[in-house]
Amino acid sequence: MCSETRGIRRFYDSFVENAAEPRATGRCLCGAVTYAVRGPLRDIVICHCSECRRWSGTTGAFAATRVEHLAIGKTAALHWIDSPESARRARRAFCTECGSSLFWQAADGERVGIAAGTLDPPTGLRVAAHIYTRHLADWDEIPDDGLPHESATAELEIRWT
Ligand SMILES: [Zn+2]
Ligand SMILES: [Zn+2]
Repeated sequence: MCSETRGIRRFYDSFVENAAEPRATGRCLCGAVTYAVRGPLRDIVICHCSECRRWSGTTGAFAATRVEHLAIGKTAALHWIDSPESARRARRAFCTECGSSLFWQAADGERVGIAAGTLDPPTGLRVAAHIYTRHLADWDEIPDDGLPHESATAELEIRWT
């Protein structure tokens, strides 16, 4: 178990950047973990993998930002765990106070996934794709939304705003 945050800045490490309005802000359910995004956000991918399913209780919905653009405010309740079967040796972070699923980060990743539901509205984002659809649960159904299906986000061209 590990609570270090790889390369992710905290507000007090970077107060000069706080002068600018963040692109987005977000928080967990109880508010013990807050964050700001100070750069573009990637549109949302819906992940149907079995790890996202257990972690979130349903499909995963992730925006993303570059690691250096995520500024986490209060971190005392933020806890990182290794994602047990991740091919990319990813880690996931959640709030120890309320259990909200918050972040996903691959070991070598320049980006950090942000659980889309934790972003404060309006986000200006839209759903761009479904990934890991081969891991679909038997109760899960992909909507007929015309969006691409891929095994990984690296194979997709997704808007950043
Ligand atoms: Zn919380
Ligand atoms: Zn997933």
